[in-house]
Amino acid sequence: MGAGGFIGSHLVKRLKAEGYFVRGVDLKYPEYSPTHADEFIIGDLRDTKVCDLVIDPSFTEIYQLAADMGGAGYLFTGENDAHVMHNSAMINLNVADIATKKKTGRIFYSSSACMYPAYNQQDPDNPMCTEASAYPADPDSEYGWEKLFSERLYLSYFRNFGLQVRIARFHNVYGPEGAWQGGKEKAPAAICRKVAQAKNGGSIDIWGDGTQTRSFLYVDDCVEGVFRLMQSEHTGPFNIGSEEMVSINRFAEMIIGISGKQLSVNHIDGPIGVKGRNSDNTLVTAAIGWQPEITLYEGIKRTYEWIELQNRL
Ligand code: NAD
Repeated sequence: MGAGGFIGSHLVKRLKAEGYFVRGVDLKYPEYSPTHADEFIIGDLRDTKVCDLVIDPSFTEIYQLAADMGGAGYLFTGENDAHVMHNSAMINLNVADIATKKKTGRIFYSSSACMYPAYNQQDPDNPMCTEASAYPADPDSEYGWEKLFSERLYLSYFRNFGLQVRIARFHNVYGPEGAWQGGKEKAPAAICRKVAQAKNGGSIDIWGDGTQTRSFLYVDDCVEGVFRLMQSEHTGPFNIGSEEMVSINRFAEMIIGISGKQLSVNHIDGPIGVKGRNSDNTLVTAAIGWQPEITLYEGIKRTYEWIELQNRL
């Protein structure tokens, strides 16, 4: 579910490589390369009838990644709050209920680090995002509240009806074949695009003063984490993120360096989200032995090269 999206389409490739038969469902096909799924159903998972049609008890695993989703420019302006809450909650309400009634196999749910409390992410040098720090809840966006609600929804179905759910909290996933223009792109792709489009000797705009910190996870590492979690006996929620924290200024410098251009940075007003965020992988590494393998430099180099090519096409 969400097989036409960024992480979903990479996950489909991985599941095919593992030898699975894969049915993909989404509102749209993947944008940048043909799907690897054996079957691909275009459908709206907010619609109970569609969910009923696509959820098949003979399937051993369901991966639920469909969500109304975007970067800071989509999630943090407030303009899309009602849609984000309504659309994603409808999908999860349908999926949890129908998967339970049909007694399907295991189900994966993709939550987000956006559910962590804002009060623990004010200090850019010391954000706290351990799994246990989720409460008292105070996400900084409606997107984060919906994720927290849906985590609890799936866990309720687990406790009351035995739905075999696995939950990950993704931290800023990036890589080739993700949204890079149009308003739903996230910071890594947006900065790569700005650098790719800038003339040598020119400048790029960065939202905020650039001292805000984040960690970014390369999509292949994310897919590996999801796969291992699904094979494990652990329910979660677990962080699936990188612990390589970087300021946005340093990150922009890294991308400019990869481009080989001489560019300056203008800091402009824009939605920036929390001041600091970093994954804490202590729990997930102990449980399933997963940690990221691709460095930020290597991952963003691959991503920049892909976006630079898209920009030229
Ligand atoms: P994406 O937007 O590329 O993929 C989501 C897909 O869901 C899209 O293809 C979209 O068309 C589909 N979708 C939306 N509404 C639908 C509906 N009603 N019916 C059917 N399909 C629908 O996003 P992504 O980056 O691949 O994220 C996948 C999941 O991971 C999402 O749940 C997202 O919230 C979560 N997540 C992603 C990140 C990240 O950094 N990319 C971080 C945290 C959590």
